[in-house]
Amino acid sequence: MSAADLRNLPSVERLVSQLEQEDGTGRYPRPLLVECARAVVEQARRRLLRSETVDTTPRTLLTDLRALVTSRASLSLARAVNATGIIVHTNLGRAPLCDAAVRAVAEVMAGYSTLEIDVESGRRGARHQHVEPLLTRLTGAEAAFAVNNNAAAVLLALAALAHGRQVIVSRGELVEIGGSFRMPEVMAQSGATLVEVGTTNRTHLRDYERAISPDTALLLKVHRSNFSIRGFVAEVSLADLVDLGRRRGIPIMFDLGSGCLVDLRTRGLPYEPTVQEAVTAGCEIVTFSGDKLLGGPQAGLIVGRAKFVEAIRSHPLARTVRMDKLDYAALAATLQQYVDPEAAWSSLPVLQMLGAPAEQLRERAEQLRDALVAAVPSMWRVTVRPTVAEVGGGSLPEAHLPSFALAISSPKPPNWLEQTLRAHRPPVFGRIAEEMLLLDVRTLLPGDENIIVEALRKVISD
Ligand SMILES: *Cc1c(COP(=O)(O)O)cnc(C)c1O
Repeated sequence: MSAADLRNLPSVERLVSQLEQEDGTGRYPRPLLVECARAVVEQARRRLLRSETVDTTPRTLLTDLRALVTSRASLSLARAVNATGIIVHTNLGRAPLCDAAVRAVAEVMAGYSTLEIDVESGRRGARHQHVEPLLTRLTGAEAAFAVNNNAAAVLLALAALAHGRQVIVSRGELVEIGGSFRMPEVMAQSGATLVEVGTTNRTHLRDYERAISPDTALLLKVHRSNFSIRGFVAEVSLADLVDLGRRRGIPIMFDLGSGCLVDLRTRGLPYEPTVQEAVTAGCEIVTFSGDKLLGGPQAGLIVGRAKFVEAIRSHPLARTVRMDKLDYAALAATLQQYVDPEAAWSSLPVLQMLGAPAEQLRERAEQLRDALVAAVPSMWRVTVRPTVAEVGGGSLPEAHLPSFALAISSPKPPNWLEQTLRAHRPPVFGRIAEEMLLLDVRTLLPGDENIIVEALRKVISD
């Protein structure tokens, strides 16, 4: 390190004005530019002081500055390409919305809306009116309410219906969903007392029956949405549980989780209980997510008997977990698709992806392969391989959906390719198997193919 090197470092002001000259003024906020230029110069200075060999030419520092400012100025929450084959991918935002929902959100967010106003009378209205009629129509329930997410729906329902009283749950249904939702802990937070019955693998009707006391507020059934148990198992059917509740005058609450409104078996998928079935079976309260199999925005939906839904709606906690206008817009538009369930299979991305026949996916993969082969150097190998896609999002853990993926291998290790595609904007997420990068086509949305081709072209040109 020489004193001259240190002295020759460009000033922050000079770097900033040079970048503005080259990229145009006003492209990035000036305070951000100054902050980043300071960081770049400071880092160069520190490395010189440690006698590291550093390229401190203005050109290099300018490149560093441009990279830093571009990354800091871009939004970290942004669109991504899901080529993992996991449909309801919690880390990639769960359900993509249908076109109608996207349009509804765009319209409502751009200006004022009829969120809480009765258009006819001009008087104050209630926001849940935008989804309650649809939810009751689709599920057969008397009343409905929506909150921020299903975890909140469960907490709120327990707080409103069982605070200071007992709730009976089978030991086989004390689930944990994604780490932070654990039924015993949610129960404790609601102020209800958990009464566990049965064993991990077997719970009988008499177990529930014996646990009932004058303090019992609810019999709670929880759908094992993200795991399954096999072997020497027994659980009480919903019909028997409802029958017991009726005889003893205790309401049944069912946390369904997945929120399926269509019969998945019609598309060759495994059976998943629907909300309609839970309502028809006689559950007083049913809770489920809006952004799992329902294919809508993040939401927690509560349907059931009017007097219980009313108690939930008027509980003080309801306000703390209420849904915002954008979610109402998206949810109403999503639910509307289900008025004709056949149409829902073709308009909702989650259902489209679930129902896509393997043959169709093979064709899609072959088309993408042809485009990729034309884009990458000849040493690269791009082939189409059969894969197994998953539903994800803690739904249908046993469903294995036959799918197809592009298997890509380049002269470099697959990790390198995986990371480089993740660094692309928009990022492309695949997975590595057998030393290859796999891009599953079951979870691609229209237009994603172009992004993938472009991302690979960029990888090669850089
Ligand atoms: C997913 C799930 C939840 C939590 O729902 P979120 O919408 O993620 O808050 C609760 N219970 C069950 C059974 C679930 O599957």
